[in-house]
Amino acid sequence: MGVGPGGPDLRTPAAVEAIRRADVVVGYKTYINLISDLLHGKEVFAAGMREELLRASVALKKASEGATVAVVSDGDPQVFGMAPLVLELMSRSGVHLNVEVVPGVTAALAAGALLGSPLGNDFAVLNLSPLLTPREVILRRAEAVALADYVVALYNPIDVDLLKEVILVFRRHRAGGTPVGVVKNAYREGQRVWLTTLDEIDYGVVDMRTTIIVGNSETYVWNGFIITPRGYHRKYAYP
Ligand code: SAH
Repeated sequence: MGVGPGGPDLRTPAAVEAIRRADVVVGYKTYINLISDLLHGKEVFAAGMREELLRASVALKKASEGATVAVVSDGDPQVFGMAPLVLELMSRSGVHLNVEVVPGVTAALAAGALLGSPLGNDFAVLNLSPLLTPREVILRRAEAVALADYVVALYNPIDVDLLKEVILVFRRHRAGGTPVGVVKNAYREGQRVWLTTLDEIDYGVVDMRTTIIVGNSETYVWNGFIITPRGYHRKYAYP
């Protein structure tokens, strides 16, 4: 289940209820800290980064023993989160357990809202961590997305050199002045929002708690908002 980007305001009631019903809560330490107000009386298994496999197997073991388990991701559990791994392990092991995926507000939507409306037209989400996806695949996907003029939300900018390469790919297909939003710690303590352009990104501020949104060829900035038109202007005369 996903607990949204940060504060309690952006948790869904369904996610809160799933945690309330759970005997055991499993998750990455940082996310467990985000929901500490919901953990009273729960058995908690908090493991570190890169221990996803351990977390998923502990969760399945506890559930097989009869416990109700909540596996917590930040944002949404499908989007570079725990849901696919848990289901994948179940599909491989053939265990039969009742399982429910509870959606959450993913970082792209949280960052997009803070920037105005950059995701107003077709968009893609790209994972930039080369940990599970080879660099060539990341660059090939970036090329396809850039060519097709999608807005893109870049997650997991763990490797600044790779991020720079990906931005160069976009620069080859888009103007240097294309609006870019950089959002760190959306709806969390330490929230920062920067409006910049493809040519002027400050890579020094980017870290693992940052999501970067690159506009398409129609995206523009007005009054501090990034706007990607849906296309009404092509069809209707505006009042
Ligand atoms: N399941 C999560 C994503 C996990 S991958 C979701 O749906 O949002 C982790 C990446 O998500 C981070 O490297 C960052 O790019 C992005 N991210 C997650 N929470 C964020 C937040 N509050 N602010 C900005 N970026 C965030």
